[in-house]
Amino acid sequence: MSHPVVGRFAPSPTGPLHFGSLVAALGSWLSARSQGGRWYLRIEDIDPPREQPGAAQDILDSLQGFGFDHDGPVLWQSTRVEAYAVALQTLIDAGHAYPCICTRSDLAASAGRHGATCIRPWRHDQASAWRLRLPRNARIEFEDGLQGRYPQNLSAEVGDFVLRRADGLWAYQLAVVVDDAAQGITEVVRGADLLDSTPRQILLQRLLGLPTPSYLHVPLVRNRDGTKLSKSTQGSYVDPRNPMPALQDALKFLGQDPVTSSRKLTPRTLLDEACTRFTVKKIVCNDLNHPHGSFEKP
Ligand code: GLU
Repeated sequence: MSHPVVGRFAPSPTGPLHFGSLVAALGSWLSARSQGGRWYLRIEDIDPPREQPGAAQDILDSLQGFGFDHDGPVLWQSTRVEAYAVALQTLIDAGHAYPCICTRSDLAASAGRHGATCIRPWRHDQASAWRLRLPRNARIEFEDGLQGRYPQNLSAEVGDFVLRRADGLWAYQLAVVVDDAAQGITEVVRGADLLDSTPRQILLQRLLGLPTPSYLHVPLVRNRDGTKLSKSTQGSYVDPRNPMPALQDALKFLGQDPVTSSRKLTPRTLLDEACTRFTVKKIVCNDLNHPHGSFEKP
């Protein structure tokens, strides 16, 4: 194959694997493997205050329990700060990034969006965040593999966004772009909560001269009340010691047929079988325009 597919799953270790992340892992694994591609893991551990001790290992153990095999070593973002610093410096040198000490309350009047000029002037001796200077009238549109065309006017909807926080922590948007490129990722399959981050990532790829992978955002698993199922939602964790029911549920959530067999299935045999039958067309797009649709965990 001249252009091998390379997919990835990139959880943040903020808690154990939950059903929503199992769906994202399954979707990206099935997509990559069904095309004969590679599948990498990356632990996005760049925000220690939000992390839970032991969660990263717990997620890795769970993925193994669910039968996912991955290629290469796991990439830990906490080991990648030099690469993020190089990327930031590239943006600074090209005039695409600037220091900023505006606070959240400074930006409250503009719903958190930072315009082209700072409200609070920065002095050279002050620790600052670094923001991306959006090109004038920045608009990015891309074709999502499931959600279709997704246009975003970054100037109106997002504003100049943070690349590195004043406390020194790296922003997800910069880290994800640097690492997707470093791992040679050709397709990103992840939850639809990140759909509106994608134009920011595509813009950064263009400014840094990095390739843009294809994107496919799988429906978000929601609670009965329509809120996003998150790691803080009680009862949403999946149990890797009893992997089959959650795997079948995740397959069903992705619109794929359940895997049945006269022989006893293991997570691995189930995944391999699901892989041979996987088709993106069966994933029911939950269309973000219909937030009240029911997309609960089956
Ligand atoms: N680390 C992010 C999360 O756990 C996912 C990032 C990505 O897939 O781009 O929500």
